[in-house]
Parts: sequence; structure tokens; C-alpha cells
Amino acid sequence: MADGTITLDQLIAWLRRFTELVTENRGYLTELDSAIGDADHGANMARGMAAVMEKIDGAPTESADALFKQVGMTLVSSVGGASGPLYGTFFLRFGGTAGPVTELDSATLAVALRAGFDGVIARGKAEPGDKTMVDAMGPAIDAFDTEATDGADLAATTTGAFAAAEMGRDATEPLIARKGRASYLGDRSAGHLDPGATSTALLFQALAETVALP
Ligand code: ADP
Ligand code: MG
Repeated sequence: MADGTITLDQLIAWLRRFTELVTENRGYLTELDSAIGDADHGANMARGMAAVMEKIDGAPTESADALFKQVGMTLVSSVGGASGPLYGTFFLRFGGTAGPVTELDSATLAVALRAGFDGVIARGKAEPGDKTMVDAMGPAIDAFDTEATDGADLAATTTGAFAAAEMGRDATEPLIARKGRASYLGDRSAGHLDPGATSTALLFQALAETVALP
């Protein structure tokens, strides 16, 4: 069960679970990207996160900022697609905001997640409704903030964020893409889930499972 903080070991467990989920869903993410992109999102995420875990397991870090700097730099350098720099920026900003700490409480985690999200917006310039990962990440972080402000514990904040990410992911289906490769399709991008919003829901699933589920 979750207590009031997430430790460095749990942050690593979050990344490990995310790696498992993108690896298990590699074919599915690629199938989604083949409908409105270039059929590489599953491969990009699985390869990127495998490289991340190899780095983490090979060179242990002692604080959140160092850990997530390693994660972010590895994603930026090992993933060719748009998603590498975007997730890379998310983790770099997340860690930089968390700082040289070994555990985070709900309030600090909320601030770090928000900083990561702001980094994705700054880098990709997508707005809500553009049919991107932003459409899952924004609602997840808003839900996290609401729960954290109400004083909810980590189990409730992360579970709420995961549910909101899934709703945001599902809401991308009817949208017409206005950013990224899918935007080249115009109206034909409607009727498909966005691959990046789908992997972002897995990111929040991994977080919820790490702190809230047995
Ligand atoms: P690529 O599009 O370069 O092949 P991926 O297939 O790995 O890269 O990732 C595609 C996902 O990246 C999209 O589904 C979308 O969620 C996300 N994405 C693309 N461009 C942007 C952007 N400018 N801002 C936010 N997310 C974006
Ligand atoms: Mg792609």
C-alpha cells in the first residue's frame, strides 16, 4: 500500500513497469501508429525504454534529478521519432523540478509532473484537442493536482490520474490531428486513437500500479 511518499526505488519501479507495459503493447501501439502515422510508435517506445532500463541498471543514481536526467537524455538520444524528445523532455523537466531528493510526497510529485507536462507543451507546441499525448497527459495531471490539493494520498492521486489519462486517450479517437505526422492526414486522422496518448495512459497506469496496487 502507498504511504505518503514515493521513494527513489519506487520511481525506478515506475519506469520498469512502464517499460514492461510499452513492451507488452508494442504491437498495439504500432498498429495504432500504422493507421495515422508511420507504424513505429511501439518500436520507438520499447526500444527507448529498454535503453533507459539498461542505463539505470548499469549506472545507479542516487537522487531523482540524476535518475531522470539519465532517463531523459537516453530517450532523446535513442528514439528517432517525435515521441523520444517529447518523453525525454517530460522526464528531464520532471527530474529537474523534483531536485536532488530521494523521495517525493504527493504535492511535490504534482509539481514535478506539471513541470514535465509544461516541457512537452514547450517542445511540441501542441494544444489540447490536437490529438497528441497532451490529450492524455493534461487531464491526468489536472486530476492529480485536484486530488493532491484535496490532501489525497498517493494511491488516490495516482489512481485518479490514471483514470483521467484513459479518458483523455479515449477522447482522441474522433479528433482530427493538428500536430505530428497524423496531421498530414487531415480529416482521415479521425476515427483512430492517438498512439502517443495511448502510451501516455500506460505511463500513468505504471505509476498507479507502482504505488497503489499490491
Ligand atoms: P513519429 O510521429 O515521429 O513517428 P512516434 O510515432 O514515436 O513518432 O510518436 C507519435 C506520437 O507523438 C503521436 O501519436 C503524438 O501523440 C505524439 N506527438 C507528435 N507530435 C507531437 C507534438 N508536437 N506535441 C505532442 N505530442 C506529439
Ligand atoms: Mg510514428
